[in-house]
Amino acid sequence: MIDLHLHTSRCGHASGSIAEYVEAGRAAGLEVMCFTDHLPMPAGYPQHYTMRPEEVAPYVEDVRVAAALSAETGGPEVLCGVEADWLPDDVEFVRDSLATRNFDMVLGSVHFVGDWAFDDPDLIARYGSCDIDALWDRYFSLAFDAARSGLFDVLAHPDLIKKFGFLPSVDPRMWYEELALALFEGGCAVEVNAAGLRKPVGEIYPSLGLLAACRRRGVPATFGSDAHAPGEVGNGIGEGRELLRAAGYDSLVVFRGRTPQEVAL
Ligand SMILES: [Zn+2]
Ligand SMILES: [Zn+2]
Repeated sequence: MIDLHLHTSRCGHASGSIAEYVEAGRAAGLEVMCFTDHLPMPAGYPQHYTMRPEEVAPYVEDVRVAAALSAETGGPEVLCGVEADWLPDDVEFVRDSLATRNFDMVLGSVHFVGDWAFDDPDLIARYGSCDIDALWDRYFSLAFDAARSGLFDVLAHPDLIKKFGFLPSVDPRMWYEELALALFEGGCAVEVNAAGLRKPVGEIYPSLGLLAACRRRGVPATFGSDAHAPGEVGNGIGEGRELLRAAGYDSLVVFRGRTPQEVAL
């Protein structure tokens, strides 16, 4: 099995070294693992969610060294990816940052609605003063644009907006169908992300309805634990596989040099 969404202590809000993660991946029996620390954002955005700009080069170097070591010792295949924010006002910054590195895979993530990092538990009070249906609508319109942007290989945690359990009063299927179409048209895969199991909503991102819509459109899927500590590597693989099967998937994709290759589920 694969785990294509892993953070290390370089992100500032995760713990553990690359070597500790690879060891955990080996113990979990992973075949492929991909590191995806957060790409720095331009000045004016909060800087504590991501690597600092000067950390990107050593991050890539350290992952490549760990990959060689793991290959020599019969461990999992180790790939070097990144998680990049969808920043509609700074698309060129993101495009330029990504172009300077040979990442294997780029995850695209919507973590901001306007200037609000809505998935930050420290900022949860803002949900109290907002219209949840309108918030979901804004979130999904950002996700549609991210999916179609051509910047990303995979849309990470596609319905992250449900994280704290603030659910809409309306049927969300209209958003699911439109997002599946945007992913298909944008050539972007969908991520099955187990982090939601560890959050108040208590379920994988995305919901079965959204994943099944992706499957009907022929959108390829990946799996990631979104581990923020070595002990979380491979978390939720069983649940993820079950959800994927329920949605009709029988294979996943792995990105190497930003090219997808099919692997068995
Ligand atoms: Zn994320
Ligand atoms: Zn992440």
